[in-house]
Amino acid sequence: MSHYNTLIFEKSTPGQIGYSLPKLDVPEVDLSNLGELRQDLDLPEVSENEIMRHYLNLSLLNHSVDTGFYPLGSCTMKYNPKINEDIAKMPSLAYLHPKQPLETIQGSLELMYGLQEQLKIIAGMDAFTLQPAAGAQGELTGLMIIKAFHEKNGDVHKNEIIVPDSAHGTNPATVAMVGYNLIEIKSQADGGVDLEALKAAVNENTAGLMLTNPSTLGLFEQQIEEIARIIHDVGGQLYYDGANMNAIMGKARPGDMGFDVMHYNVHKTFSTPHGGGGPGGGPVGVKAHLAEFLPVPVVDKSDDGYFFNYDRPHSIGKVKAYYGNYGILVRAYTYIKSLGGPGLELASDMAVLNANYMMKRLKKTYALPFDQVCKHEFVLSGIKDHPEISTLDIAKRMLDFGVHPPTIYFPLIVHGAIMVEPTETESKATLDQFADIMEQIAREGIEDPETLKQAPHTTKVGRVDEVYAAKALILKYGDMTDDQIRRD
Ligand SMILES: *Cc1c(COP(=O)(O)O)cnc(C)c1O
Repeated sequence: MSHYNTLIFEKSTPGQIGYSLPKLDVPEVDLSNLGELRQDLDLPEVSENEIMRHYLNLSLLNHSVDTGFYPLGSCTMKYNPKINEDIAKMPSLAYLHPKQPLETIQGSLELMYGLQEQLKIIAGMDAFTLQPAAGAQGELTGLMIIKAFHEKNGDVHKNEIIVPDSAHGTNPATVAMVGYNLIEIKSQADGGVDLEALKAAVNENTAGLMLTNPSTLGLFEQQIEEIARIIHDVGGQLYYDGANMNAIMGKARPGDMGFDVMHYNVHKTFSTPHGGGGPGGGPVGVKAHLAEFLPVPVVDKSDDGYFFNYDRPHSIGKVKAYYGNYGILVRAYTYIKSLGGPGLELASDMAVLNANYMMKRLKKTYALPFDQVCKHEFVLSGIKDHPEISTLDIAKRMLDFGVHPPTIYFPLIVHGAIMVEPTETESKATLDQFADIMEQIAREGIEDPETLKQAPHTTKVGRVDEVYAAKALILKYGDMTDDQIRRD
């Protein structure tokens, strides 16, 4: 019997009950005449063991860092230490109410304040907000801060943000959301920013530049100080996309490179579970001259203890309800505190070592467009001398071996990109197994292309028709026709 395509509603049998309530110890009240209780809700009736099997079987359809290797470049799917979960589920942290009186949440505020302080040290920034719910929202917050800064200075004509063509898609999307004009510049042959193209792009309208360093190619931008000078010379601000902080913790700091504002992806760098859309955390840090624009409230400290500081007349306002995704922030804090400074630096060392080891092995069989020492990830371009073998087929075949494929077709500037980020938590044995699989797939691609084209062969759901899936959207239960059910 297949478990994966039956909905919980379809498993319902009238009269089945999966819970038992404790004996009532308060007077019973009849609510039926309130007029607000609905009798027609289609709620599933299932026993406890049925509901257990349903959700456990669903969860087994997922790949996760806890079930297998997950080298999804740029996303940093590192292992999530279970101590993070132990701390986050402590009742004194997990059962707080956001409107509790301050004197009852001093410990929690101390944690948030402490996290802000740690993030400042790691990045070399002067002030932080913990509110943004993810990297993309951090970008939005950061560009709103840059805009507020220029407007306060009367520089309302500044309306252009420069973004290199290797950037993550959220960068240009953020530029558009804030109402700025996007100026894209091409990368040079070694993957770095083309300084001549940058100089040609800057002018008095330049509001700022968004940069990821190391870039999404996994390469450290050597000319960062010169880039910062060029942007600052025209009064622009530098935004740091911190998704790749995993490569440089304890080694280099965006604040020292000349960046004015940045976000972290705490769910990437500081190991909180992510994927499937969240929840995440995208704290935004700024240099002192931008601190007055941070969202309110900022967690602050006085002689009377910790408090939410709303005294920020030039604030861009709130960007998220209450104070951010608190449970995620607790996990990030736990990760930082349990590793300490030297531990974080070692994590970066190991991430870079693992990536370089894997790159050295795979470049024998796969095309490596940027053949230089990489940081925590690297980008291949299909199988060496066989551009006809599609990256999508390679990725689909990997599913048969129980590993998650790397990120594919990103960054956009690499043809048939395969972006591998092994992360620091994987052993040499796991790295070797993965490289063996990649080599076997390359051989199959050359000798037996049909095996790749038909893959995956062993998963519950085979190759999906991606065009059909995108064109014939089925957005709610009951919309599926018999024909569509058969196609599945
Ligand atoms: C993941 C990522 C983002 C977006 O972050 P989210 O937390 O997913 O919103 C932005 N830039 C880069 C380089 C990324 O890898």
